Amino acid sequence: MKLIYGLVFSAAALPVCAADVVDLAALDRIVDQGFNHSEIATTVAHLTDRIGGRMTNSPQMREAEVWAQQRLRHWGLSNVRAEGFEFGRGWSIESSSVRMVAPRTLTLRAIPIAWTPSTQGAITAPVIVAPLSDERDFEKWRGRLRGKIVLVTQPDSGSEPDKAPFRRHANETLAQFDTYQQPNHSEVERQKLLQRGLFDRRQDEFLAAEGAVAWVRKAYRDGGLLHGEGYGYASGMTPTLPGVELAAEDYRKLARLAKTTAVPELEIVSNVRFHDQDTQAYNILADLPGQDRSAGYVMAGAHLDSWVASDGAQDNAAGSVVVMEAARILRALNVKPKRTIRFVLWSGEEQGMLGSAAYVERHIATRGALDDPQLARLPPYYTWTMRWPVTKQPGYDQLAAYFNMDNGSGKVRGIYTEGNLAVVPIFKQWLAPFASMGATAVVAKPTGSTDHVPFQSVGLPGFQFIQDPLDYGSRVAHSSLDSYDHLKIPDLQQSAVILASMLLLSAERDAPLPRMPLPSRPNDTQPFEYEDDAAH
Ligand SMILES: [Zn+2]
Repeated sequence: MKLIYGLVFSAAALPVCAADVVDLAALDRIVDQGFNHSEIATTVAHLTDRIGGRMTNSPQMREAEVWAQQRLRHWGLSNVRAEGFEFGRGWSIESSSVRMVAPRTLTLRAIPIAWTPSTQGAITAPVIVAPLSDERDFEKWRGRLRGKIVLVTQPDSGSEPDKAPFRRHANETLAQFDTYQQPNHSEVERQKLLQRGLFDRRQDEFLAAEGAVAWVRKAYRDGGLLHGEGYGYASGMTPTLPGVELAAEDYRKLARLAKTTAVPELEIVSNVRFHDQDTQAYNILADLPGQDRSAGYVMAGAHLDSWVASDGAQDNAAGSVVVMEAARILRALNVKPKRTIRFVLWSGEEQGMLGSAAYVERHIATRGALDDPQLARLPPYYTWTMRWPVTKQPGYDQLAAYFNMDNGSGKVRGIYTEGNLAVVPIFKQWLAPFASMGATAVVAKPTGSTDHVPFQSVGLPGFQFIQDPLDYGSRVAHSSLDSYDHLKIPDLQQSAVILASMLLLSAERDAPLPRMPLPSRPNDTQPFEYEDDAAH
């Protein structure tokens, strides 16, 4: 039975399409399946406790790719498949340790930086604090680094949390998100971003040329947390020198000692492996076939890959199992939607949304070549939105909506409309039944840094949900704390129920969701701006 839910909004004179119907009976069946028959807890426990951290192309990511396909097939999804794209080298940590061996002995909290090489046994050497933040710093240290372990981060004085590390959005906070953010196209900012992107590799080349034996950076959060991100994953581009990240407190201790006559010596053991047998990364796809093959498809996605310091639970086993559970729920209800509903688990998100960008390039739209050849050395993340023109592929018109899950374990509180004003009344209507579950906000504000961006950037309706932050941004995302312990299973169940509902509603809608115009190269918002040299 379909009820015309849009009548509720008719008094507000919102331009709701008469075809926007909400099948309330279907929603109640989704709610029953999602809350009373949930498989979220066991699914996410397997992905985190059993499989663990899932660096792109690592053995654990390969295991997760196989397992996810098995689960999706087991639940009865169709066309379950892995779709490859060129990535680079797999990398994993076998063991590692960092000790201060002078002026006293102390085991430090440390993790190898992703895609740095092994130390081939232990490296023991004195440290030198040589902060490097751009290439002009190289001159200050030239000739002084031979035989040293180089501490490259500027030591700071530390920080204390100024707000609770675990929180949920108050309704007033959600309301603040409904602020249209005018685009700012700045050539100056673009150049700064590109220089930052090129710096990691230039720093590695500089340190190696100077005869440094290893490098150390400070963790960017206090409290003993470790992260270990690195971006030198491309074949032939991995770093030359071993590098480790130290807990912020341990790093500052070394930096203070180095100011005295007791310059510390470190012993670094980093035993890592590269995996080169298959340089392709794989997105995992599965379909719930639609009844009208000419109506295209709607899609939900989350990245299955993670960083290496923990089990990648909130980032992003959480989103992955919400997408998998939405697939399970809709299949269990045996829905027969008009459009196909596609579920996808991306790879390479943590290296810059590589899986979703590869999908868009293959199926949706291509972007032009780079005009500057030196930019080809950058990870594609930096340049993806700078390549023009956007050219539609045959699949462009088939994708009616894309929903992404990647903001941790917190329940859905609403959705970012990414400046797409035409979808606002539609989403308000679709979320209305879920107000009592806390999902109310439909906000103009955009959000970035995850897999809806490649879709959004070619003008397709790609969205990310607003979720309760919990302790995701404050301490868990990418960190050594990202284990099952910080997941909130009831929140994940709520997210799966709402995602399944939004998918069904968009799959049943007469028309695809409204689209933005096909993007073309924008004009500079501040064409008379000069680079602020002091900002370096
Ligand atoms: Zn993520």
